[in-house]
Amino acid sequence: MHFPAFDEFYQRILFLLPFAANFRSNEIEFDYQSPERWRDISRQCGGLNQSPIAISRRKAIPLSLPPLDFGVYDEYFDDLVTVKNTGHTVEFKVPSTVYGIKPYVTGSLLPLDFYEAENVHFHWGSPQSKGSEHMLNGHRYDLEMHIVHRNTKYLTLEDAINYTDGVTVLAVLFKVVRTDPTFYQPGLKELYNSLLHLGNSNSSYTVRERLSLGALLGNLDRGNFYTYKGSLTTPPCAPVVQWHVFGEVLPISHQDLPKFWQLRDRRGRPLVNNSRPLQAQENRLIFHRQPHPPLQRVHLQDLIWL
Ligand SMILES: [Zn+2]
Repeated sequence: MHFPAFDEFYQRILFLLPFAANFRSNEIEFDYQSPERWRDISRQCGGLNQSPIAISRRKAIPLSLPPLDFGVYDEYFDDLVTVKNTGHTVEFKVPSTVYGIKPYVTGSLLPLDFYEAENVHFHWGSPQSKGSEHMLNGHRYDLEMHIVHRNTKYLTLEDAINYTDGVTVLAVLFKVVRTDPTFYQPGLKELYNSLLHLGNSNSSYTVRERLSLGALLGNLDRGNFYTYKGSLTTPPCAPVVQWHVFGEVLPISHQDLPKFWQLRDRRGRPLVNNSRPLQAQENRLIFHRQPHPPLQRVHLQDLIWL
């Protein structure tokens, strides 16, 4: 006898079991070959307010927003950072600073809350393709750095992603250059060099120099950013992120960028093109913070109903 309904049920169970096991170990299995299947891992990946998106200066709304305030961002960490190849990216957990607290941001559209830095990770392409997640003014860039922050109202990042005000991410885009720009970015140079020790998935390396988060931003103009409401760009794709994408693009030398391409994923394959495809903007507004916006300006108080 053949029971189609039962067969289908059974197949579903078999299909879901690996995911269930992965959830238990708090590691969600996904890959960048088939991002359209992420919605089978988390329904939110097929939902609204997803990231990344294409941003353009022309279409963004210029706004005289308050700046982001960077709390202890330029103070040294009280511990050396350990960078890890997770199989999906390279990442380090942000330690406390020498002041005993972690770097945080507030201000911008988040004036009432404090968002503590949790981790820093990257998205990149391959020798054949550029790998930033967000596009800016019609360009895809070579590399994108994410500094993920948790609203201190919530105790853990896992908890924060259940709330619409849970997370803010600062995104920095990088463009490859022929000259060596690292004089201005000593922190990034340390991270790029650590990649040479991180070829295999699950490997980790402790950077020898003391770092600060500010050292990763170099001389970036921190006052020029785009902000919009979006999501995590990996499963579970929770739509809980106030994105801040900086308008200035930082340089990365042509000697450092290939260090990302030699990393390998969990199956030993090259860990390249770890960027989620662009998502629909829908009817979301993208604001461009400018210290001195054009005459036709929109004020924060006019947007309070948003
Ligand atoms: Zn990311």
